[in-house]
Amino acid sequence: MEKVKTLIIGSGPAGYTAAIYASRSNLQPVLYRGIQPGGQLTTTTIIENFPGFKDGIDANQLMMEMNQQAVNVGADVRDGAIVKADLSKRPFICEDERGNVIEASTVIIATGASAKYLGLPDEEKYRGQGVSACATCDGFFYRKRTVAVVGGGDTACEEAMYLSGLAKKVYMIVRKPFLRAAEIMQKRVMEQENIEILFNTNTVGLFGEQGVEGAHLVRNKGEQNEENYDIAIDGFFLAIGHTPNTELFKGQLELDQQGFIITKPRSTATNIEGVYAAGDVADPIYRQGVVAAGTGAMAAIEAERFLQDKGEK
Ligand code: NDP
Repeated sequence: MEKVKTLIIGSGPAGYTAAIYASRSNLQPVLYRGIQPGGQLTTTTIIENFPGFKDGIDANQLMMEMNQQAVNVGADVRDGAIVKADLSKRPFICEDERGNVIEASTVIIATGASAKYLGLPDEEKYRGQGVSACATCDGFFYRKRTVAVVGGGDTACEEAMYLSGLAKKVYMIVRKPFLRAAEIMQKRVMEQENIEILFNTNTVGLFGEQGVEGAHLVRNKGEQNEENYDIAIDGFFLAIGHTPNTELFKGQLELDQQGFIITKPRSTATNIEGVYAAGDVADPIYRQGVVAAGTGAMAAIEAERFLQDKGEK
């Protein structure tokens, strides 16, 4: 069985920053990149709010730089996912998808969050055939076509703006009578000619013979003036928030109602000594790359101090 001082699960800004800090304090960390190497940022284009890049930076490039920086300072960065984690006692026993077992003195969880779906059977039916939760991954297929984006937050506005540069027309399907995105984003989508916002509107189904050809919508649901109507679309993009990737730790770690890992105030420590959580997996509030990176650094520093105190460094 392989023994490691610090096992890092996840390769977003939190995981890589934890790896950089842990390597530099000689913890010889092993990082598993997981099923989405680079994390959620790899599904976006330019990132303009990560400090240090005055003109913004391509998000994929940023993640590749972080990966290389972690490797350069000595982190053992691996492809693959951790599929089992027994946190009941230290050292923690984790297993990867190839059946390799790792005995870890400390674990830093940086598994991030994943896009939410509405839960309609039609989303499953048309997954990959017009239904997507990543405009920057799939938008290319909808050049000069008509698409819809569901949601009224910052993500939905960003996705709608991105798609408006490719598609002929973009509908935004917003269940409330207002957008919840930052004002500057609201202004951008409102001013974009080929974006039409459908307020007070919910999606009840999708239709199409060969992939998505349209959506069944309902306006003013439950009101006297409730109205059912259809729109013709070629693509249906979800942007309604995210669920933390904590399935592996259910029943072991303290989670909040939405499934985010609960950490101690001003710390990344979880309810289990030696297990730390960084980035979006423990952050229902900010969900920013730079915040994730910050908490990744915190987690590595806390792990190092813990091992030092235990005389295990
Ligand atoms: P949000 O939670 O902010 O917004 C989710 C949107 O989806 C809301 O409009 C919500 O409607 C709607 N929604 C949720 N569930 C459903 C449903 N079942 N049916 C229909 N609509 C639904 O999520 P985001 O992913 O947009 O943003 C998350 C966080 O990340 C925010 O803090 C945001 O500011 C931040 N962010 C920042 C960015 C930046 O600064 N560049 C970019 C992207 C995100 P309702 O309002 O009715 O709840």
